[in-house]
Amino acid sequence: MATIFSKIIAREIPAEILFEDEVCLAFRDINPQAPIHFLVIPKKEIVSLAELSGEDEQIVGRCLMVASLVAAEQGLTGGYRLVANAGQDGGQEVPHLHFHVLGGRQMSWPPG
Ligand code: 5GP
Repeated sequence: MATIFSKIIAREIPAEILFEDEVCLAFRDINPQAPIHFLVIPKKEIVSLAELSGEDEQIVGRCLMVASLVAAEQGLTGGYRLVANAGQDGGQEVPHLHFHVLGGRQMSWPPG
């Protein structure tokens, strides 16, 4: 399903892109919930973690590697949180798989 994230991948709408390779894109969240808040998405249109197929295993793995790499580049030496909202109960708003990376402040638990 084409979403706003497909438009970011295609450069049809702007975003502050932090990293790109053939599999993934990382860019800052437009509505940051922490001093550092970026998203890592696969370029493939995967709806959510609940809709993976077997061939997506390497893609998801690459996204997590990119999350770790960009978190380090962003100076998150004290740690960070990685979140993937899936589906309605998970609070997912954009139906294109994405990993939030939030850092630069103390996180609390449980999340809302
Ligand atoms: P979700 O609730 O689906 O897990 O998170 C979607 C995230 O995408 C939200 O944090 C929201 O701020 C972000 N977002 C939505 N539209 C845009 C956009 O056009 N540009 C950017 N950079 N982030 C967006």
